[in-house]
Amino acid sequence: MSELRELYQSVILDHNKKPRNFGVVDEANCEADGHNPLCGDKIHVSARVEDGVVEDLRFEGSGCAISTASASLMTQAVKGHRVDEALRLFEGFHELVTSDPTAEPAASGLGKLEVFAGVREFPMRVKCATLAWHTLKNALEHDDSTAKTE
Ligand code: ZN
Repeated sequence: MSELRELYQSVILDHNKKPRNFGVVDEANCEADGHNPLCGDKIHVSARVEDGVVEDLRFEGSGCAISTASASLMTQAVKGHRVDEALRLFEGFHELVTSDPTAEPAASGLGKLEVFAGVREFPMRVKCATLAWHTLKNALEHDDSTAKTE
């Protein structure tokens, strides 16, 4: 387990240091802001959705390593996929990080996103990990309110 944990940590550190899809989408038609006041994480998500497919997706903002890495991996997981798939991934991810920490993580088909299974043990960190996803959901659903992690 500790080897797996180290692998997970290295993925998170790598995405924090070199966030993928960082910036703002040209001609975005979906945008939202998110804020996690408990940690101070702030994020802006922009996307261009065409025919129900997330053609481009970027984020910018500042926050802790978990929130930045989660946003980076979120953009990779969602870009190029259908909006309904993106919302399903969000549900699966949310389930993963809020499930019982003593149980085996459910085989969820989340791929790389499973590196966040470890945050189940840290309720404060769950909010950091889910901020990008809450913000994505608001963007895709054209909800203009600032996404909160509650
Ligand atoms: Zn945070």
